[in-house]
Amino acid sequence: MKVCLDPGHGGPDPGAMFRALREADIVLDMALACLSRLQLWHCVALTRTSDVYVPLADRVQIANWWGADLFVSIHTNADPDPDKLGMPEAKGEEIWIHPESPIARNMAEAIKDHVDSFFMDHHFRGIKETTSLYVLKHTTMPAILVEVGFIDNINEHQAFSNPVFRRRIGVQLAQGILLYDKGKQGAV
Ligand SMILES: [Zn+2]
Repeated sequence: MKVCLDPGHGGPDPGAMFRALREADIVLDMALACLSRLQLWHCVALTRTSDVYVPLADRVQIANWWGADLFVSIHTNADPDPDKLGMPEAKGEEIWIHPESPIARNMAEAIKDHVDSFFMDHHFRGIKETTSLYVLKHTTMPAILVEVGFIDNINEHQAFSNPVFRRRIGVQLAQGILLYDKGKQGAV
């Protein structure tokens, strides 16, 4: 299987920011850890391997021209609303898919337990459909976008600050993708 991993943002586009953390750095570490685990079994390509800016159209083109079987975009969420008393901070993981891709839904279902395990005690926010995410809309293979958690949630922010934790999330993601592939083979 050819898997294209897509760490969001990069270079002059930091993505979401909170205190000293940039989304672009967090998701790159995760993608690199995911790569080193996954490439033991599969061909893996990254849309970027360093802190550079890659336009969305180029990311899609990399995956489409390479003929990837799977596209996995990695992002962190942010909750711009100020935290109010009695209104808990947003937290937890979620997966986005395009509504017209049943295979992406299968994939999201297969890996959701692994994604949910990023933050054991934080509720998984669900598999959500959107037609407006560029990389999901324009890739020609099953594609998902994983929001690994909230950069501005105190607990998740603390975890994201730890390079060991970032690597662990990357490895968990790889385990989920391996599980999806195993299930697919079982179904044939
Ligand atoms: Zn992002």
